[in-house]
Amino acid sequence: MDKVNVLGVKIDKVTVDAAADRILDMLKSGGNHAVYTPNSEIVYMAYKDTDFCCLLNSADMLTADGIGVVYASQILKNPVPERAGGFDIACRVIEKIAETGDRLYLFGGKPDIAEKAAENLKSKYPFINIVGTRNGYFSPEENDGIIADINESGADLVFVCLGAPMQEKWIFENRDRLNCNVMMGIGGSLDVFAGVAERAPQKWQKLGLEWLYRLIKEPKRFWRMLALPKFAFTVLIKGRKYPQEEE
Ligand code: UDP
Repeated sequence: MDKVNVLGVKIDKVTVDAAADRILDMLKSGGNHAVYTPNSEIVYMAYKDTDFCCLLNSADMLTADGIGVVYASQILKNPVPERAGGFDIACRVIEKIAETGDRLYLFGGKPDIAEKAAENLKSKYPFINIVGTRNGYFSPEENDGIIADINESGADLVFVCLGAPMQEKWIFENRDRLNCNVMMGIGGSLDVFAGVAERAPQKWQKLGLEWLYRLIKEPKRFWRMLALPKFAFTVLIKGRKYPQEEE
């Protein structure tokens, strides 16, 4: 089985490296691929909203971003090999496209964040080909202009960093109009590349406590994080009702 069905969301059982390799293959193969990296909050959202669940399952790859989804896969006896978070996958992809020359567009975050992220990435990877940036605050009327800008940039890959579920919905609604091969929804990653947010230290990550670190740093996440115990409870009570075999 190459997927685990967590409350209806079919997550690919991939490592960070395997996910990055698949994205490189998508870049080579053409087409317009969507990659989402759901955490337990997003999976719980999909459990509550069938349309959003279908939207997630229409992706070309879904990876387990968050220790909650990793534990859920273990409870369901169909474990993912490791946590494959959007930021970690993006870092591997960046290392690779800095060699292949694939064109990257950074979309999302507050004004100037995408530009700062581009600047930092260029100083770390001088050969990275960043062809455009756009902040993530826009009116519906501005959307066509954003699509045109991405298409004119010639981007092969777009990091869409609008937060969930906005980024997944934006990719789903616009993917057919975008000429790029891969669109990845990776939340607050541009804030980290820009240096205005930080990842939890490795020790916290290894202990599966990155969520706690983020909660301490950003207490306003408390209300959002209430989805976590609800998610855990629902997986324990209802998780096994979802078929694990491929359909
Ligand atoms: N954001 C955006 N447009 C919006 C709302 C949010 O570009 O209308 C950005 C926000 O600035 C932040 C990211 O989306 O950079 C969301 O980050 P968060 O850490 O909340 O996302 P997560 O990784 O938890 O999905």
